Amino acid sequence: MADYDYDLFTIGAGSGGVRASRVAAAHGARVAVAEEHRVGGTCVIRGCVPKKMLVYGAHFAEDLEDATHFGWEISGCTFDWKKLRDNVLSDVDRLNGLYTQTLENNNVEIYHQRATITGPNEVTLASGEKKTARYILIATGARPHVPSCPGHEHGITSNEAFHLDAIPKRVLIAGAGYIANEFAGIFHQFRAKVTLMNRSDQLLRGYDESVRDRLLQISLTKGIDFRFNAAFEKIEKQEDGSLLVFMSNHEPLAVDSVLFATGRVPNIEGLGLESAGVRLTDRGAIEVDENSRTNVPSIYAVGDVTDRVQLTPVAIREGQAFADTLFGNKPTTVDYSCIPSAVFSHPPIAGVGLTEAQATQKFGSVKVYTSDFRPMKNVVAHRNERSLYKMVCNVETEKILGIHMIGPDAPEIMQVAAVAVKAGLTKADFDATVAIHPTMSEEMVLLK
Ligand code: NDP
Repeated sequence: MADYDYDLFTIGAGSGGVRASRVAAAHGARVAVAEEHRVGGTCVIRGCVPKKMLVYGAHFAEDLEDATHFGWEISGCTFDWKKLRDNVLSDVDRLNGLYTQTLENNNVEIYHQRATITGPNEVTLASGEKKTARYILIATGARPHVPSCPGHEHGITSNEAFHLDAIPKRVLIAGAGYIANEFAGIFHQFRAKVTLMNRSDQLLRGYDESVRDRLLQISLTKGIDFRFNAAFEKIEKQEDGSLLVFMSNHEPLAVDSVLFATGRVPNIEGLGLESAGVRLTDRGAIEVDENSRTNVPSIYAVGDVTDRVQLTPVAIREGQAFADTLFGNKPTTVDYSCIPSAVFSHPPIAGVGLTEAQATQKFGSVKVYTSDFRPMKNVVAHRNERSLYKMVCNVETEKILGIHMIGPDAPEIMQVAAVAVKAGLTKADFDATVAIHPTMSEEMVLLK
């Protein structure tokens, strides 16, 4: 090992890269990380974390409305976007500092510059300096995909959404996946007129149809518009600064802002992958085996750049397994089965395991239990929004194949429900558990 400058050189200090680097260093490896932006990556700097803070901020709009039905007199209530934005960004600064500190405390050397792979065991920094390492880990993440229509440069992505000077009065969100539905809720609560457009006729592909339908219904009732089967034709900037968006199958739409939320593509450009001979998948991600190893034995990759499951906790597990296997003498692979996930829409959605359609396709027939209810808080608040919980079970064994939910706090409830699904429990196990009354989650043990 002493022949190299480092045992491990990581490119990219996001969730996967930071975890791999700090654990490898804790196992005694000499580790360096190159990061050209800020330490923390998409999730911490321009993704999950600041987004969740905006979701909290946005939810107060409904909470304040609901509060009047609980007897509160609220007058002179105003919203200051810049105050929220700056508070969120300053917390992002704090987290950026914490992540940097974590690396430093573990003696990981940080190069705040771009690194390119110039050999199976060599990287070249933007400064021209070359560093050698026994292993190289690519953890460069992904970036928003922007459709290439004329005028696309007038739009923004989630990267910019956290830095806006003002909330646009009218916003068109392109895409109907995670980011689109989360920002639709956020902008809507901040009083923007929101329209979602998608190339297909559905939203949140991959989630259970019943909960997706419920979100669509609730979003329409709130006043969010949807345009399906719509492909961008062009975006024209008008003299007054507004944007006129032309799309297939629909009339042109005048808005103040266009937010692209049409998926994310792996960051593979300019890394020297071709010269190092690192193979890519058909989708342009880095191809890896179950140990996150590329076809070049000394080069590994974790996280969104491998496009396996684009979720932070998965990248973290991949980074941990990589470090434990190579430096901790603890061979580990990531178990990708039964990964729970959530969309922080208004209201949020969460799911684990097979959807009803997937389970039916796999097993021929399934048993489905549901609870379709109006949360107590919504009743008093005169909010006509119903929650839906759904359990998909094997017909013979009653083993739970999937749980799907939409309703307040669904992601919080799902995290624990997912333990039961992962453990292979049955509907009878849920029924045997006494309800906590009155809660929303008690519906999970009262499904019919
Ligand atoms: P998603 O994959 O969730 O959704 C992409 C949307 O864009 C879909 O509606 C898709 O349409 C559409 N689309 C895809 N490609 C194109 C294209 N070339 N032209 C036009 N439309 C297109 O992506 P997001 O950008 O919302 O999020 C990226 C990823 O980040 C997610 O997959 C998720 O893994 C992660 N993420 C997770 C969050 C969470 O855990 N809460 C929050 C935010 C992001 P169609 O339906 O037809 O495929």
